[in-house]
Amino acid sequence: MTRVFSGIKPTGHLTLGNYLGAMRRWAAVDQHRADGLFCIVDLHALTVDHDPARVRRLSRQAATLLLASGLDPELCTLFVQSHVDEHTRLSYVLECVATDGEMRRMIQYKEKAAREQGRGGSVRLSLLTYPVLMAADILAYGTDEVPVGDDQAQHVELTRDLAVRFNQRYGQTFVVPRATHPGVAARVMNLQEPTSKMGKSDDAGPGIVYLLDEPDVVRKKVLRAVTDSGREVVYDREERPGVANLLEILAACEGGDPGELSGAYASYGALKKAVAEAVVEVLRPVRERHRELCSDPAYVEGVLRKGAERAREMARPRVDAAFRAIGL
Ligand code: ADP
Repeated sequence: MTRVFSGIKPTGHLTLGNYLGAMRRWAAVDQHRADGLFCIVDLHALTVDHDPARVRRLSRQAATLLLASGLDPELCTLFVQSHVDEHTRLSYVLECVATDGEMRRMIQYKEKAAREQGRGGSVRLSLLTYPVLMAADILAYGTDEVPVGDDQAQHVELTRDLAVRFNQRYGQTFVVPRATHPGVAARVMNLQEPTSKMGKSDDAGPGIVYLLDEPDVVRKKVLRAVTDSGREVVYDREERPGVANLLEILAACEGGDPGELSGAYASYGALKKAVAEAVVEVLRPVRERHRELCSDPAYVEGVLRKGAERAREMARPRVDAAFRAIGL
């Protein structure tokens, strides 16, 4: 069976982008067709300035929301990265295969390091080595497919390079994984700045729809989305990114093609109303299930404990093999 690994960072409240671009597909498709491992990658949340209590709280919240989105612990393995030591064990071994130059070339490192420095802060070493830990996350499990958004494609490429290099130098140990693209809603944009991604790590803003936003808050955010001075609803990502984003969100919520959907709306106002209602409806079952799960935190803890046990069993033989192969 194809093995799929994907992760989510507990760096902020989960957004509509996380849901449409990743979580929904993991629940509706991946966990049924593949042996799915879905991981709250809390170690990755420590690469930039963080608040310990907040990371812990957001990890539990992400787990609860993943279950609320339909991940079924009978079908897949849901766990927290730091509960499984194999990730950091393997990461060190892979650091001995990766190069300093490779790390410094990562676009996300350059962007995030510049941001930290711009704020007058220093750059954590873990920000530089983060892609190696991500490679360990993936390679420890013999992963075949990694469903990721566009922004992670370079890191999966690096993971492939490290796997091939390790196998060549030290003997066949790792499966070489491939990235898979989520298709529609690969990149949900910020409603106020439609040229940048709707990211959960950004400061809370009116352009970000959070999964736990009340329906009226969702409506308000969508109705205030930035569009442009045109009137006719046409799908053009370059010239009209705001409208294109709304059409893509609508297509992701209701099915269909953003270009074809554009013909059905006579004005931006009508489009926004349709998008607002579609988003409210898509999020409704998630919020309801989340509320139920919050009343049973022991259940969520139990799922994570069993998930970590299962993940550890899956990872250990391969990580042990990597230790032996490299001379430990
Ligand atoms: P973030 O980028 O918000 O910190 P993560 O790195 O934790 O999110 O990503 C978790 C998953 O959600 C990844 O598969 C990522 O590609 C997807 N994702 C995050 N933001 C968006 C977005 N705005 N549109 C589509 N997918 C997204």
